[in-house]
Amino acid sequence: MIYLDNAASTPLDGMVLDVMTACQRDIYGNPSSVHGEGRKARVAVEQARRTIAGLMNVSPSEVFFTSGGTEANNAILWGCARDFGHRHFITSRLEHPAVLRPLEVLREAMDIHVHHVEVDPLGHIDTDHLAGLLRRYPGSVVSLMHANNETGNLLPVKAVAALCREHQAPFHSDTVQTAGKFNLDIDNLDIDYAVASAHKFHGPKGAGFMVVRPGKFFKPFITGGTQERNMRAGTENVCGIVGMAKALEVAHERMEEDQAHIAVLKKECIRLLREQIPGVTFNGDAEGSSLHTILNLSLPAGTDAEMLLPKLDIAGICVSSGSACASGTSKGSHVLEALGADPDRPSLRVSFSRYNALDEVATLVKNLNR
Ligand code: PLP
Repeated sequence: MIYLDNAASTPLDGMVLDVMTACQRDIYGNPSSVHGEGRKARVAVEQARRTIAGLMNVSPSEVFFTSGGTEANNAILWGCARDFGHRHFITSRLEHPAVLRPLEVLREAMDIHVHHVEVDPLGHIDTDHLAGLLRRYPGSVVSLMHANNETGNLLPVKAVAALCREHQAPFHSDTVQTAGKFNLDIDNLDIDYAVASAHKFHGPKGAGFMVVRPGKFFKPFITGGTQERNMRAGTENVCGIVGMAKALEVAHERMEEDQAHIAVLKKECIRLLREQIPGVTFNGDAEGSSLHTILNLSLPAGTDAEMLLPKLDIAGICVSSGSACASGTSKGSHVLEALGADPDRPSLRVSFSRYNALDEVATLVKNLNR
């Protein structure tokens, strides 16, 4: 199996599996129980919180565990509208559905206004347009993802954060694709709300967290018990949390080495594609300000789109498809559509991890060329 769909999910790291196995075996108390077994679970959760907080350069009191990125984004956007009374939200059409859908639902439920910042042909947001929107709607909530999950395009986070400060606008960034890939010093980046999902950095599925900066706390999105200092009800996913902290720790320890290795894979993939598939093009800013783990390409017109993924699947190659949809009727990629990609050309997202090797990239390209 050649697994090149790491933006969708990543294989579990062996060390993460070990700590999770030990946790499942040895730690079974409820962290809210006051007896010895409960306290053991509480210690494990709080140790994980301290580890994550240290890696994100925030205080442990600003880290809240969730089931993943989707829940964290929902909680933050709902919190901003419901508890802080924000009525204007600025985002882009290229965001993940975990941001776009909650904003649509909020619009129906609370009469909020959603403004879309313009993007250039490569898919980078137009900061002048953002500044204009902020002047017009000061105090809007800005929600812009750090790295686009389809194209890998990177947001100039510090410049956006500075604009947000200037206009007293809370800044939410969906950092799901970049947590564990870069050193996300949240204090230095000046993001008010950041989110992460363990399964994107070789941790378990169903575990994530949000970072909420001081003064930006909201009421719980999921209500019930008073877990997570009353920010998120429900018994903590203890072993998921422990595994996530280990995965983030390992990702930070190996970060430079992994970045260098994966960047070589991406560069070689681009080179081989250009060499072997005339007419191939890349969506987003593949060779510019782009995440090293993601490459989005369109194959030449005339490629059999329907057979493409089954063919790769038979060859044991896992990638994601995503084409611009022609009329909005077929379900395609809203990102590629917004970028004006040709709907008649099949597109693929290839996404790498530290477990991939150069020969796998060569095999992928060879199979695309058949
Ligand atoms: N945001 C982005 C940018 C993503 O890529 C994903 C996962 O595909 C999510 C949010 C959703 O995260 P989760 O799977 O943890 O709910």
